[in-house]
Amino acid sequence: MKITSSEYLASAVKPEQYPELVVPEVALVGRSNVGKSSFINTMINRKNLARTGGKPGKTQTLNFYLVNNSMIFTDVPGYGFAKVAKSHRQTWRKMIEEYLLKRANLKGVVQLIDIRHLPTNEDKEMFFWLLEKQIPVMVVLTKADKISKGKVQKHVSDICKQLNIPLSYPLVFSSETGLGREEAWEAILELIQQ
Ligand code: GDP
Repeated sequence: MKITSSEYLASAVKPEQYPELVVPEVALVGRSNVGKSSFINTMINRKNLARTGGKPGKTQTLNFYLVNNSMIFTDVPGYGFAKVAKSHRQTWRKMIEEYLLKRANLKGVVQLIDIRHLPTNEDKEMFFWLLEKQIPVMVVLTKADKISKGKVQKHVSDICKQLNIPLSYPLVFSSETGLGREEAWEAILELIQQ
C-alpha cells in the first residue's frame, strides 16, 4: 500500500465531534498498551502521528486519522486499565459502544491482541460482542517480534482456541519489524471495499 498522505483529523468523545467527512472508516480496539497507536503508525509509515507509549490508558478519546484522503483509522481508547474508576469505565464503554454501533462510516474493526498472552476476559467480551453485533472484525496479534519464531504457531493456536476461530483468522504482526503490514493492508482494503 502506497501512503501518499496521512493526518490527524480530530478527537471525539461524542458523535457531534466525529469528523463529518464521509469515507470508509476502520476502528482499532484492544487493551491499553497492546500497540494500537504503533499499528496505525506502522500502517501509514509514520513514526509518531498516532501517540504511542507512556501511561496505559492515556488515550481517553476516539482519535481519527485520515489516510490518503480516502479512509480513516480511528484509535479507540484501550480497555483493561485497572486504575480507572468504575464510573469512568462505564462512560468509556458507553462512548465506545455508541461509536461502534452508530458510526455510519464504520466498515469494520481491527481488534489487537498481544501474541504473548491469552486473550483476557475483556478481549473475549469485545470480540464476541462485535460478532454478535455483526460488525466485521479482523484479529491482529501484535508484538510478534517479542517471541521466538518457533513459538508463534503455538501462541496463535492457543489464542484461536480461546476465541473459537480458525488458525487462519488472525494476522501475525509486529510494528517493530513491519511483519504482517502488507497482509494487514490487504485485509483492510478488502474490509473497506465491502
Ligand atoms: P496503545 O496503548 O495500544 O496505543 O499501544 P502503543 O502503540 O502506545 O504501544 C505500547 C508500547 O508497546 C510502546 O512502548 C510500543 O513501542 C510497544 N509496541 C507496540 N507494538 C510493538 C511491537 O510490535 N513490537 C514491540 N517490540 N513493541 C511494540
